[in-house]
Amino acid sequence: FLREMNARHLWHPMGHPGEAQVNAPKIIKSAEGVGITDIDGHRVIDAVGGLWCVNLGYSNDVVKQAISDQLFQLPYYSSFAGTTNPPAIEASYAVQDFFAEDGMTRVFFTSGGSDAVDTALRMARQYHRLRGEPTRTKFISLKKGYHGTHWGGASVNGNNRFRITYEPLLPGCYHLPSPYTYRNPFHETDPAKLAQNIAAAFEDEIAFQDPSTIAAFIMEPIQGAGGVIVPDPSFMKLMREVCDRHGILMISDEVICGFGRTGDWTGARHWGVKPDMMTIAKGITSGYFPVGGVLVGDKVADVFENAPAADGAIWTGYTYSAHPVGAAGVVACLSETLRLDTKTNAAARGTQLYEGVCKLAEKYDIIGDVRGGHGLMTGIELVSDRAAKTPMDNDTMKRIHQATYEAGTMVRLGAHNILMSPPLVISEAEVDQIIASLDAGFAAA
Ligand code: PMP
Repeated sequence: FLREMNARHLWHPMGHPGEAQVNAPKIIKSAEGVGITDIDGHRVIDAVGGLWCVNLGYSNDVVKQAISDQLFQLPYYSSFAGTTNPPAIEASYAVQDFFAEDGMTRVFFTSGGSDAVDTALRMARQYHRLRGEPTRTKFISLKKGYHGTHWGGASVNGNNRFRITYEPLLPGCYHLPSPYTYRNPFHETDPAKLAQNIAAAFEDEIAFQDPSTIAAFIMEPIQGAGGVIVPDPSFMKLMREVCDRHGILMISDEVICGFGRTGDWTGARHWGVKPDMMTIAKGITSGYFPVGGVLVGDKVADVFENAPAADGAIWTGYTYSAHPVGAAGVVACLSETLRLDTKTNAAARGTQLYEGVCKLAEKYDIIGDVRGGHGLMTGIELVSDRAAKTPMDNDTMKRIHQATYEAGTMVRLGAHNILMSPPLVISEAEVDQIIASLDAGFAAA
């Protein structure tokens, strides 16, 4: 019945609506620890972490209890001008405390990551307008970047798949090459030199556009959905320097990288960079409740807070901004994240997973590139011909996915990539099991 109703009525995000009629989706009915169970009773390790979000695993009773208590205390009240609720205020304190080292002092809550990106882009334009530079309206981002699905995010997204169908998007968005050593327009395999090439391309683009027209540059510290693209350690710093030279705001999209995934509490901190703004979601509640947010430091906050009310007002917001139940989840999730020091486990288990997959690459020549080694984000790029770097066809990708699942692990399929972002609380033995499942999956293919 579930499968039939799914095929008839449920349109899935990011896929062909008819596909569910042909390829039965995996219907997950329960979860525990780092494992998920489907309606046929098959239990596997969730190496996807829900969708890069279930950082604390599925069994954190502290977060569940906080959310459930809040549901009974105050299930909803808005935080629009004139009202708010205690968990929202507590969550704002917990968030600024968590991000203090990144220089973030204010949070604007949203319902998720796409909302956060859209809001951040608007705030960036407003920031310049308030400072008397209303011509700064353009945005620069990176190819292969993923910043959500709203018009703003889609406009700065660096993958055509998310863009072309919906054009025209926001005017004035330009995309630099991704720090992707495996393929790039410079044919550069050295990550440090590639970083310099991209910084030079950034300067060129700014000169061409005119710096006084550019509002912000947005990037993920490690690109996630684009294939786990780990840049050279110099990369984000170089981009920061270019932004500073031209008065461009830097937005670090931490929707995946934030909250320990990279082995540090934020991706920007991992690379030693202080951005002007951050976008957050996913790990902020470990996926237990939909919450996102925009963080700003004093540089941005001062401009808004010192502007006359008529100009500095933020005319964007969501019914579920600072939702009390979500906010209670944020407070509990951040406290658990710190108590469990998930970043330290993410770093150790991330190295284990990366090294394990590198060993598989010696065995299977369909593995073209392995990316990761900085926390629990790992990407495996698959090819049908290693020398020619021919991308693997979709049918083979799906067979590998299914065989890996049958061997005990759920992984995620990206474009020619297998992507992994397991819960940050995963154990050594469970990472070994992921590697064994992949081994079986590749062998089957
Ligand atoms: N930014 C990044 C870096 C993301 O990975 C995502 C989601 N995968 C988003 C923004 C959008 O977040 P959401 O799906 O919660 O809208």
